[in-house]
Amino acid sequence: MFVSYKKTNRHLMKNTILLLSLLLFFGCKENKKPQVIHVEKKKIHLPTFDKDRAYEMVKQQLAFGSRVPNSPAHKSAMQWILDRARSTGLKVIKQPFEAKRFDGVAMTGANIMIQYKPQLKKRILLLTHWDCRYTSDQEKDPEKKKLPVPGADDGASGTAILLELARALKAGQPPIGVDLLFVDLEDQGAASGNEESWCLGSQYWAKNKIPKGYQAQFGILLDMVGSKNALFTKEKFSERYAAFVNNRIWGAAKRSGNGQYFLSGEGRSVLDDHVFINLYARIPTADIIYTTSSTSSGFGSHWHTQGDDIQVISADKLGVVGKTLLQVIYEAQ
Ligand SMILES: [Zn+2]
Repeated sequence: MFVSYKKTNRHLMKNTILLLSLLLFFGCKENKKPQVIHVEKKKIHLPTFDKDRAYEMVKQQLAFGSRVPNSPAHKSAMQWILDRARSTGLKVIKQPFEAKRFDGVAMTGANIMIQYKPQLKKRILLLTHWDCRYTSDQEKDPEKKKLPVPGADDGASGTAILLELARALKAGQPPIGVDLLFVDLEDQGAASGNEESWCLGSQYWAKNKIPKGYQAQFGILLDMVGSKNALFTKEKFSERYAAFVNNRIWGAAKRSGNGQYFLSGEGRSVLDDHVFINLYARIPTADIIYTTSSTSSGFGSHWHTQGDDIQVISADKLGVVGKTLLQVIYEAQ
């Protein structure tokens, strides 16, 4: 993606949320005393999100090497995602597809979806990309530029969080459908212009939905969500197409004790998978992505460099995002 136009344990964790606390005062002609109605606090029981397990899954992806399309690492990682997905016992769908890179290189890709309670109509879509960029084009050294990005944050962080969420959903059994979509060929686009050369897997899925006729109430995209420095602001396309989704995320972050990482300031415009999900799949979708005003690129200094490796990743940050998403899911039930 690029900034557009310059572009614990196995016990259930208890989270208490005050959904409604109404104090209604009725003027009473007879005794002049106000009547106070207390509405009971609704408790939400979230399953555990194991941040250390998520961190290990970032490491496991890195062990394959850069998951660049057509490479052995890409093939191995795809099989690993499928195996991890199937090990949850949830329904898994694979969508292979062919696409051309902006410079004509033929690529084979695969989108993978894990479906929790596929029979339910009320659903939420969570997605992330799992491929790695073929070039570290933000490096200054021409030799380093040629190397593919390790993709610890850009690819592996979101993938690890969604795989751990699959396990947490299976354990927690919320009464709402959730789909976890791992899209391929997101990060192979042209460095400038040609916006449709990015996000090829999400474009393909949005135009050829699996399952057929798929719909969800809303979607949330994760991209570069695992770095130590990551702080999140409301990305602008998300605000335009899915402001209510941003509000749910930001509210859930606060209520799950993670509000300090979700800032109130205005975010940037990022061309990312959610744009195509909004436009082509017509599912209002917001992007949780780390952007910053402290670098010229608008992203963390490790973005599209050799520095996007395990040392930038924080297990705590994976936990912040994972728990916030669980809160969103349980609040939407
Ligand atoms: Zn990227």
